[in-house]
Amino acid sequence: MQRITGNVYLSKRTVAIEGENSLIIVDPGYDAAVSKTKKGTSVEELTELSRIRGKPIEYIILTHSHSDHTANLPFYVMLRPRAVIGHYRNRCGPGWKINRTTTQKLDGVELELIPTPGHSSAGDDISVYLPQKKILLPGDLCQPQGEDYRNADNVSPVPFFSDGNRYLHSLEALLAKDFHLMITAHGDIYDAHRGRKALEVTRQTVTRIRDLATKLKRENPDETLDKIALWVYDTIAYERSFDPEALEARKKGNKHGNDFTRYDKPGIDSFLKQQSISRL
Ligand SMILES: [Zn+2]
Repeated sequence: MQRITGNVYLSKRTVAIEGENSLIIVDPGYDAAVSKTKKGTSVEELTELSRIRGKPIEYIILTHSHSDHTANLPFYVMLRPRAVIGHYRNRCGPGWKINRTTTQKLDGVELELIPTPGHSSAGDDISVYLPQKKILLPGDLCQPQGEDYRNADNVSPVPFFSDGNRYLHSLEALLAKDFHLMITAHGDIYDAHRGRKALEVTRQTVTRIRDLATKLKRENPDETLDKIALWVYDTIAYERSFDPEALEARKKGNKHGNDFTRYDKPGIDSFLKQQSISRL
């Protein structure tokens, strides 16, 4: 576990914020659910922090319902928290439901909960902003996949998203926030400069996907959308110097299925399909 600053801690994918009398958890993570025991996991670390500080875990905030951020939720629900907070579309059924930007003071901690849809297909993404510390928790929205547009050296050449136009809108909203520190839902920590850059590279990539999808669709009215999606994908991968072997591996798949179809194509499709609707 890392103490990030003052009252903010990070264990794997889970952020804990220490209030006056309790702890607020953002995203339970999934390590304990996978290993089927709390031992050596973020759940153990954070319940230990709760014990040492003498502050129960009272609030759990979910940035979205993807299982790699929520599978540990039952371990925390067992502790009888005061509230599980999330977007009203969140499939985990939070008790406190968010449907618009909400400013909330929980146990002395000021929080802004901002709906930022575009990543999760449930439309249930929220970001958390701590105005006192100027810390931004953007959930899974920040996915630059590399330090700049020309160099995608992460797992994929593109972000994993489901609704491109809403995603671009949400990225604008996050870039408008004055933050000193950003902690993603995968536990990546950025200072203000690198954080803005990472959000901008994400935005640049999604904008390029949108523009390419629009152009190629217009120029090739008789081609299938699946074919055009592949052209867009290959072009982005080339422009971003993504490793060609890794690219082929994403298309062919592995024992977990095909990563291209599962993670990379839905976002491209969202632009291609929306375009055909707007033509009617
Ligand atoms: Zn996610």
